[in-house]
Amino acid sequence: MTAVGVLALQGDVREHARAVETAGGTWAPVRRPEDLESIDALIIPGGESTTIGKLATIYGLMEPMRRAISGGLPTFGTCAGMIFLAAGVTAGAQAQLGVLDVIVERNAFGRQNESFETNLEIPGFEQPFRAVFIRAPWVAKVGGGVEVIAAVDEHPVMVRQGNILASSFHPELTGDVRIHTMVLQAAAGRRRMDGER
Ligand code: GLN
Repeated sequence: MTAVGVLALQGDVREHARAVETAGGTWAPVRRPEDLESIDALIIPGGESTTIGKLATIYGLMEPMRRAISGGLPTFGTCAGMIFLAAGVTAGAQAQLGVLDVIVERNAFGRQNESFETNLEIPGFEQPFRAVFIRAPWVAKVGGGVEVIAAVDEHPVMVRQGNILASSFHPELTGDVRIHTMVLQAAAGRRRMDGER
């Protein structure tokens, strides 16, 4: 059976787990390197990216995650998860995987806009996607192989680079599981490529 791993160090792990289930999939928590071996896709939740980075370092997950994602594991990061996947941040330094060739600005929408919702047009979706932003980053710099899927005021908020998808917003909070369905489809494709385990 196809299983989506949800990085379960900090943040809104349960909400992603529920969204995967609503989309018809099964999920498994990822806390240790060996948990990466039995999953067909990986979700990195929102939360606090510096905390996720610190815990991933302590749990010895940085290199194993880099290897798995670089090896083609379909991966979806939301908000802090997007920051954790990225190559850098516009200010300061923190533990990041660096597998997604973007530089992100944390808390980019400013204090007066700490959280807000908006409808986004996402290619391939007939209806707009209601996107919830909570102290969200935006992508400040996009590398060569990165496709911008959606933007707010011309700031990219959803990007794809090969097997890696990332959003500044939280699709796990609205009950609209179209993006989680995409992750499940990628997981199923990956499983077919690997052969049944
Ligand atoms: N502001 C958080 C950070 O910089 C991200 C917020 C979120 O994931 N909702 O890590």
